[in-house]
Parts: sequence; C-alpha cells; structure tokens
Amino acid sequence: MHEYDLLVVGSANADLVIGLDRRPGPGETVLGSDLRVHPGGKGANQAAAAARLGARTTLLARVGDDAYGRMLAEAQRDAGAALAGLLVGPTDTPGTVGKDGIRVPGATGAPEAVEGKDAPTGVALITVDAAGDNSIVVSPGANARLTPDDVAAARGLFQAAAVVSLQLEIPLETVAAAARAADEHGARLVLNPSPPARLPEDVLALCDPLVVNEHEARLLLEAQSLSDDPEEWATALLGLGPRSVVVTLGAEGALVAGPQVGAEVTDGVGMVRVPSPRVQAVDTTGAGDAFTGALGWRLGRGAGLEEAVRYAVRVGSFAVTRAGAQESYPTAADVETATG
Ligand code: ATP
Repeated sequence: MHEYDLLVVGSANADLVIGLDRRPGPGETVLGSDLRVHPGGKGANQAAAAARLGARTTLLARVGDDAYGRMLAEAQRDAGAALAGLLVGPTDTPGTVGKDGIRVPGATGAPEAVEGKDAPTGVALITVDAAGDNSIVVSPGANARLTPDDVAAARGLFQAAAVVSLQLEIPLETVAAAARAADEHGARLVLNPSPPARLPEDVLALCDPLVVNEHEARLLLEAQSLSDDPEEWATALLGLGPRSVVVTLGAEGALVAGPQVGAEVTDGVGMVRVPSPRVQAVDTTGAGDAFTGALGWRLGRGAGLEEAVRYAVRVGSFAVTRAGAQESYPTAADVETATG
C-alpha cells in the first residue's frame, strides 16, 4: 500500500482578482472592485481537489517565503493535503516540516540558498470585466525555480506515490524529470499539458492518461487538420504515443481512449464517451483541475481508467456550480449528494 494515492508536481499561485467595467487601454487607469486573493495554480488546485475528496496526497511545489506562500500552504492543509512536498523559500528541501505542519525554511540543516532561487510566490493578476471576460498576467516566481534537483531530492515522495500528476506551469525540464522519476518508481503518470508545450517523446509515452481539453488537443495536433470529432482527436493524440488519452468536453463530459476501455476500436484500444450530469454552471474556473485531481485519486486507489473518468466528470460538474477554483471543490459526500 502506498503512503500517497497521488503526488501532484506543479505550480502554486496566488490569484489576485479585480472586477472592472472595462479593461484599461495602454496608459489608461481605471477603477475596479475590492481585491480578492485566492489560492490557485494548476498543481495546487489538483492537490486540493484530490485532498478534499479524501485522497492521501501531497503537492511538490515551490512557493516564496512570504504571505502568499503561507496562504497556499494553509489552503493545502485545510483541504487535507500533506505538506511534505511543499518547498517554502530558497533553502528548503523535501523532508522537513516545521511547526503547525508548515515548512520553516532552514529549520533542520537546510542547504545553502541556491543562487536565483530566492523568488516570491507565483502570482496571477486577473481582471474580469462586466461581460465576464478575463485578462490574466502570470508571474511564475518560485514556480520557475522548481528544478530537476528538487525532483531528485524528493525521491522518497515518488517512491511513496501510486500516481503522479503533472501539468506544465513549471519548467519543462522539471516536468520531464518528474515523469521519469514516476516511471523509475513504478508510479502511474497522469499529465495535463497546460499551458500546451511540446513534450519529449519519452515523457509522452509514459502518460496514462494524457488529459487534454479541446483547446489543448487542437494545439498539440496543430500540424494535423482536424474535424470537430473528439473521437478523431483522441485517435490522433494516441498517435503521439501516450498509453491512454482523456479529452474533457466541458458540459458534454469527457471521452476516454485506451486499452481495456469500452468496446475495442482498433489494436486493443477502445473509446467511451462519459456524459456529464446536467448542472447550472456558475463558474468553470478550475473545473479541469478538479477533474484531473479526482481522476488521479481514483486511479491511485486502483480504479480502472473508465471508472475513474466517470467519477472525475461528476467532480468537475460539481465544481462549476460554485464560484472560484479551490473554494468550489466538493467532498466525496458532496459528490454523492449532488450526483449519486
Ligand atoms: P477549465 O475551465 O478549468 O480550464 P478545462 O477547459 O480544462 O476547464 P473542461 O473540459 O471545460 O476542462 O471541463 C472539465 C470537466 O468539468 C468536464 O469534463 C466536466 O466534467 C466538467 N464541466 C465543465 N464545464 C461543465 C458544464 N458547463 N456543465 C457540467 N460539467 C462541466
């Protein structure tokens, strides 16, 4: 039995949100609403989603030794995630947790500060206009300092995890190192290529599944002319080498493609559409991360891919019925009540 159902390796950001009537043009100043600050970042969202459902999970991520870093650590702890992987400040390495479960930089013989690692917590500056359209500027901060060395130092977490989940808001070389570490320790790899980027072939080949939304599918397959048929995208995505593929389809749910899925289509590979429960969508922010966190958790508990996607779709549909990202994530009891 693994200590962790799911190890998420990825980003943690403070989302700073201001509502306004219309966004300013160059050189212009406009007044907006009160500032709201939320925990965010794809990695932190996925770990929080899984933890709230009951997963034994931890997030390997780097935040600054500052107020936003502490907010993110507290949000992870409140969701029920272990803080074993959260690196705070430039000198922190996995394995030393301070008072209250929050990591204290330099607490137990931490190494010298690594040059260039002393960065603030990542921030997303988000403005939302009256039409609901948003503009986002991301300052990666400490996320950009999560290195392959950090992955190597966290080898105990990889050993202890049934499933490792990755996204691309940290350096690509760190993503590749984490994918290879997952393989080395026999953990199943879930990867959401967001924001889309070209992945090394050996990393793609380890994905089981590669999880994409329509936008990411189209970008990954840009060289190929695509119809509007998700089954065709899934076939083309499998051609890139992953062991299985999940395409999320918003209100339509998701499509699963891989071995032992549904009725066989070709070469031992089958496909199944998993419809979403009909819900009143309020805010889709972070729904994809809730989906992927839930998927990783179910896989880590031994569910088959199709079964895990059926559960993840229910979690994603719940997340869109409430405002915010992590604030909108359900407990397992919420999922049963809403969609059982
Ligand atoms: P995000 O908005 O977080 O970027 P995404 O684009 O990565 O999301 P989607 O395909 O939009 O991913 O949604 C992920 C999952 O969330 C879907 O598979 C579905 O389960 C759920 N979902 C999203 N939108 C809706 C909706 N309008 N109604 C019901 N469920 C939804």
